[in-house]
Amino acid sequence: MNQYWEKIKKAGLKLTPRRKAIVDIFIKLNRYASAEDVWEILSKKFKRCGLPGVYRNLESLVDCGVLAKVEKFDNKKYYALCLAGSSHHHHIVCLNCDKVEDISCYAGESLKKIKGFKVLNHFFQASGICAACARGGKA
Ligand SMILES: [Zn+2]
Ligand SMILES: [Zn+2]
Repeated sequence: MNQYWEKIKKAGLKLTPRRKAIVDIFIKLNRYASAEDVWEILSKKFKRCGLPGVYRNLESLVDCGVLAKVEKFDNKKYYALCLAGSSHHHHIVCLNCDKVEDISCYAGESLKKIKGFKVLNHFFQASGICAACARGGKA
């Protein structure tokens, strides 16, 4: 029972073989992946594994905080494992190896009011080159 499986159970979702397999895929990949990437790996393991079902499972894992969405500004949807859980935080993405890490929110009080708006929500995603890639000189 890993921490991700615990989160799934705590959210009141069933820990199905597919959900377990999806979590395993992301642990092994250690980077973000598209629904299609997950579907390709999953369909080798499960018979009758459709892309819509994979989407539904991925979205349910986002809802319980096991996965986070990663924006790449193309038309695909990308997901990554999220360790930080339900408290407000953001993600930083490595442009070289596609690894995603949790980062805390730096906005604080300055984002509570903008142009007369009382701000209730915001989204933020940072990208760059991770420490391992910078050392490896691959970037
Ligand atoms: Zn990297
Ligand atoms: Zn924030």
